[in-house]
Amino acid sequence: MKILKMLACAAVAAVALSGCGPKDNSLKMITEATFPPYEFLRGQEVVGIDVEICRAVARKLNRPFKAETVDFDSVIPAVISGKADLAAAGITVTEDRKKNVDFSIPYVKTGIVVIFKKASPFTDAAQLKGKKIGVQSGTTSETYVLEQLKQEPERCKSPAEAVAALKAGRVDFVISDIDPAKNCVKGEADLALSDFITSEEYAVAIRKGQPELLKAIDETIAELKKSGQLAKWIRQFTEESDKLKDK
Ligand code: GLN
Repeated sequence: MKILKMLACAAVAAVALSGCGPKDNSLKMITEATFPPYEFLRGQEVVGIDVEICRAVARKLNRPFKAETVDFDSVIPAVISGKADLAAAGITVTEDRKKNVDFSIPYVKTGIVVIFKKASPFTDAAQLKGKKIGVQSGTTSETYVLEQLKQEPERCKSPAEAVAALKAGRVDFVISDIDPAKNCVKGEADLALSDFITSEEYAVAIRKGQPELLKAIDETIAELKKSGQLAKWIRQFTEESDKLKDK
């Protein structure tokens, strides 16, 4: 009997130590770390505005916090399947996505822009028709090319990869969210950005049917906006990711 008890204790301890199973109470964030300043890699660590927002939610719920990075296409599926609790990756709220996940209140107003070579300036959306356009796969930039221009984009893994294709002449233009676009063109004297071609808002996405979690996220975002902390993180991580670009 005693031995059985000891074995049972050892098993419980093993589960607790391995950090999985019922003892792992972590709030898991899923993101895509090629999107500065919202998420990017500082060495091996995923950092950025979205990471801090999700960490603040975990703090509010008194739960440990973990962040993991995958390709952008896999971010929303990870919360639908329950692999992660929060998806935050500069995710634009769209009617289509609302069919599959619930969104928090938005935390940023933003949009997408065209990145072009100064040698062949972009002035008008009509110019994009029939051109090779690099986009990050699964994003609203991809949707723009498919739905507004009614053509196939050149799909890349990140805004930076799309910009590399532009510099190499493999695509004519790139479409991307403005903040990673700004980061990509920093220090690139030959490249420039257009004005917004859409108007979008970012929010945190979760699996449907979790009103308490949604409320905790909404309250956290409202507090971070009111206290000025969100604006501080935006400044801090923009500065840090710009510096990483300089290296
Ligand atoms: N905001 C864009 C979208 O939601 C891009 C996000 C991203 O690439 N991380 O589609």
